[in-house]
Amino acid sequence: MTHELHIVGGGMAGSEAAWQAANMGIQVVLHEMRPKVKTFAHRTGNLGEMVCSNSFRSDDDEQNAVGLLHWEMREAGGLIISTAHKHRLPAGGALAVDRDPFSESITDALTSHGNIRISHEEITELPTDGHWILATGPLTSETLGAAIQAETGADRLAFFDAIAPIVYAESINMDVAWLQSRYDKGETEEEQKAYINCPMTKDQYEAFIDALLAADKTEFHEGETAKYFDGCLPIEVMAERGRETLRHGPMKPVGLTNPHNPEQKAYAVVQLRRDNALGTLYNIVGFQTKMKYGAQASVFKMIPGLENASFARLGGIHRNTFINSPTLLDDQMRLKSRPNIRFAGQVTGVEGYVESASMGLVAGRLAAAEILGRDLPTVPQDTAHGALLHHISGGAEAKTFQPMNVNFGLFRPLDGLKGGRRGRKDRYKGYTDRAKACWQEWLASQA
Ligand SMILES: Cc1cc2nc3c(=O)[nH]c(=O)nc-3n(C[C@H](O)[C@H](O)[C@H](O)COP(=O)(O)OP(=O)(O)OC[C@H]3O[C@@H](n4cnc5c(N)ncnc54)[C@H](O)[C@@H]3O)c2cc1C
Repeated sequence: MTHELHIVGGGMAGSEAAWQAANMGIQVVLHEMRPKVKTFAHRTGNLGEMVCSNSFRSDDDEQNAVGLLHWEMREAGGLIISTAHKHRLPAGGALAVDRDPFSESITDALTSHGNIRISHEEITELPTDGHWILATGPLTSETLGAAIQAETGADRLAFFDAIAPIVYAESINMDVAWLQSRYDKGETEEEQKAYINCPMTKDQYEAFIDALLAADKTEFHEGETAKYFDGCLPIEVMAERGRETLRHGPMKPVGLTNPHNPEQKAYAVVQLRRDNALGTLYNIVGFQTKMKYGAQASVFKMIPGLENASFARLGGIHRNTFINSPTLLDDQMRLKSRPNIRFAGQVTGVEGYVESASMGLVAGRLAAAEILGRDLPTVPQDTAHGALLHHISGGAEAKTFQPMNVNFGLFRPLDGLKGGRRGRKDRYKGYTDRAKACWQEWLASQA
């Protein structure tokens, strides 16, 4: 039997899987199609490239499930998490990362590892023999996607996350707009003034809705269906559902008083929220969109206060390819119909950099153990890794399966600890304590 492991995709999951397996003595070939074949979101040919935000989210390993994943990955010698810490930027309790040095470090570590060979090529077929992990992410290349679809027989599910546009703060007209949080919520003045508000009269609102409905939209590719998270609908889709929908959604005018004109109640209000620590960028809240770029610029400039807006980023849509893991994968992350192939990362239906890397970590270890003929105990369900893995490989409702972030709702309840808000702190601490003990035990069993 060959001791070689092939991993397709050198993103968060594939990079971590390669690192884990190589450290267990396995010869790894990491197939990455970039830079030869590009995606619309990646900019470089680096391994472990962060495609959008530079945040690994909360680093709190006692009260937060993502922070717990960080902790578990650190304990397991994770490459992604240790490199993230090495290139950490100040961001309060979050783990924000200097993205280019981060992906350069990942690339260096994998390229210089004695057990890893990088092969820059697109894999277009499902391999028939050998040990493989497919970690091709939300932007799995089309040809490979079609091959997966042909094998699984299940429809490849595609939906679109819609990105809200970002405006340079200095280009917002503060003679029209004003700073205020709804109902002045917040302890500090900064919090009470966390949003920039742009007021609309009835005529302005009606004209805006007309423009929104008439604007050019991005067409969906043939065979794709627009499946949105209901909480994340593009604004033009909301407008299509009824002219008043936006006024009762992201543009509701309640809890706000315009200091430029306190007597006149706005008919609708567009809110912008700070997008960076410096306060130089603001995103338009709830304004995810699939309007074409040219249309966006003219439609958004109809918003009073944004007449001269400069956009740091316009809204967009992106594809997210993922398989129906609960029906297709076993608890070792193997494709039931072809057990020589494992899946890892976002393509399994987890969501986010951290979750994807963590599923790579587990897949790498599981594959390596199998190649070495070792019996690896099942990943304990009471760990953050185990809770996620359990969810995608059977815990989730297959019919309605959608990508999932790690959260304490995936954890089994703890005996003797109160539910509800009051008991939450103790409960979360209980989950994380239990998870840490189980994870250490699982790691020790492989030492
Ligand atoms: C536009 C966009 C914005 C996002 N923003 C965020 C965000 O802000 N925060 C967040 O946590 N998550 C975000 N995500 C999700 C994010 O992509 C994942 O969290 C994470 O990158 C997934 O890791 P992965 O390893 O599964 O996939 P990726 O990191 O995408 O890695 C997959 C790799 O596989 C390669 N590949 C694909 N097909 C083939 C093939 N056939 N042959 C060889 N190589 C192939 C790709 O080039 C890529 O390098 C975003 C996704 C998209 C598309």
